[in-house]
Amino acid sequence: MNKHFGELHVLQDINLEVAHGEVLVVIGPSGSGKSTLCRAINRLETVDSGTIRIDGVDLPAEGRALAQLRSDVGMVFQSFNLFAHKTVLQNVTLGPIKVRGLKVADANEEAMALLDRVGVANQADKLPAQLSGGQQQRVAIARALAMHPKVMLFDEPTSALDPEMITEVLDVMVQLAKEGMTMVVVTHEMGFARKAADRVVFMADGQIVEEATPEEFFTNPRSERAQDFLSKIL
Ligand code: ADP
Ligand code: MG
Repeated sequence: MNKHFGELHVLQDINLEVAHGEVLVVIGPSGSGKSTLCRAINRLETVDSGTIRIDGVDLPAEGRALAQLRSDVGMVFQSFNLFAHKTVLQNVTLGPIKVRGLKVADANEEAMALLDRVGVANQADKLPAQLSGGQQQRVAIARALAMHPKVMLFDEPTSALDPEMITEVLDVMVQLAKEGMTMVVVTHEMGFARKAADRVVFMADGQIVEEATPEEFFTNPRSERAQDFLSKIL
């Protein structure tokens, strides 16, 4: 897969395959193309060449078929992106009602179970702004799960959070990983990577520089770029 922003070759021959149930952690310096990669997987960003395939099906470039297949990809961003004027419950039920065609009562029931799973069922009737950052991010995870995605993408889901809230979000993600969800996670949280990742990909300047198990990567990075990066964040 290749992508340019004008002169900038932001994704250079990126070739990635994520297996069913695999947890892939993407790590790398700021500006290396991690967010663009996430957005490209979801076609929130166009690519110049390459295909994106989910469960053996090519993601079409546009149109109705894209909307349908896009719902196979759950996305959680650094900024929680909840609908500010809808309650927590409505944030979670909106997609299932509109896209999956669920009846309101069924959507509510499923949403409450998901909110319970991420530990915020008691906040269901509040507006997002009334919740802490960690709670909002857990609602965002529940909202993504409500679409029954085949893969979940997380783009630095804890980097906008106060330190004391990071764990509660990572715990939910570790749990999801244990339950067998296929996940692509952009994060610098070593603890999460060691606990949950099957594989780490290190990106720099739009390229995949290194691919390894978390154990290998964090204890014995091969490339100079990765060594340099890790010496700055550890
Ligand atoms: P990361 O998430 O690894 O920090 P990004 O994918 O956000 O990196 O950005 C990769 C590079 O692409 C950066 O140099 C950034 O400035 C550039 N970039 C990102 N989005 C755009 C855009 N919409 N237009 C032009 N350049 C962009
Ligand atoms: Mg980014």
